[in-house]
Amino acid sequence: MMKLEPSRRAVLASAGALAVATTFDLPAGPRPAQAQGAPVNQAPGFYRYKIGDVTLTAINDGFGKRPLEGFVRNAELADVKKAMEQAFLPADALNITFTTLAIESAGKLTLIDTGNGDSGAPTSGTWMANFKAAGFDPKNVSTVVFSHFHGDHINGFRLKDGSTVFPNAEVMVPAAEWAFWMDDAKMSAAPDAMKGAFAGVRRVFSPIAKDVKRFESGKEILPGLTAIAAPGHTPGHTTFALSSGSGKLMIMSDTTNHPALFVRNPDWSAVFDMDGPQAAATRRKLLDMVSADKMQVAFYHAPFPATGYIAKAGNGFEMVPVQWSAAI
Ligand SMILES: [Zn+2]
Repeated sequence: MMKLEPSRRAVLASAGALAVATTFDLPAGPRPAQAQGAPVNQAPGFYRYKIGDVTLTAINDGFGKRPLEGFVRNAELADVKKAMEQAFLPADALNITFTTLAIESAGKLTLIDTGNGDSGAPTSGTWMANFKAAGFDPKNVSTVVFSHFHGDHINGFRLKDGSTVFPNAEVMVPAAEWAFWMDDAKMSAAPDAMKGAFAGVRRVFSPIAKDVKRFESGKEILPGLTAIAAPGHTPGHTTFALSSGSGKLMIMSDTTNHPALFVRNPDWSAVFDMDGPQAAATRRKLLDMVSADKMQVAFYHAPFPATGYIAKAGNGFEMVPVQWSAAI
């Protein structure tokens, strides 16, 4: 041990020298933005990757903070907190992130879901800035495909003032989702807590109702994009298999909320799952499939860039994120 002393002293001395250098040798010129009192922003939230010949861009719409209490319907709060701690996440609240996908294929630009627009939490609503930072123009969107009709997926389509955001886009929605939310009898039978969600759906879609294209699942709805029924989260909740050459991506939509909770514990149901047991059955089936097939996945509510792979782990699964790559 004594023999180590001189080298330890040398390390400390050089660390001291480094500290001195850092203090006194700041480069001349402007100070970092923080020192000037300016806001410090994250880098633009977009990330590109390829599936076969198709270029995907994950576009982030910020996050909403949700208390953990009451968030998982069928698990003890202590167990939920433990799962959060195991993922090195805070044990009091969950930041639910929002990440949509832009798909460039054969000269067309397709969006899957549109984010919160100006209707979400103050920490959300960054979608348009990120979309533009990625080099896109909303006028050039040819198709908007919706996975389901929850506000965090549809409100970006129409601003609060009623204006449409993608003036040239064809709109495609799951037929089963449309049948549920646009049914007046279902709306009047709904509990008061759900009335706002029905009103929100109508706010977005009623002005264009006659032009909305409704698709059935099990069908290829655009070249290489197949809709797969994934009910439970909502009655018409849909996932999408994207295929190009040998490349495949399963766009999992809201099959799970945060992977640290619901990929790890697929039988847990978030409070947003309208039919908990059905959502859990759908979740297990899809997670089993993508893990067996080693298929790349994208989740709307996974940490950015919200894409990776699913491995079996214990009684559930684990999401293994892709590594950030400088090459697309
Ligand atoms: Zn959602």
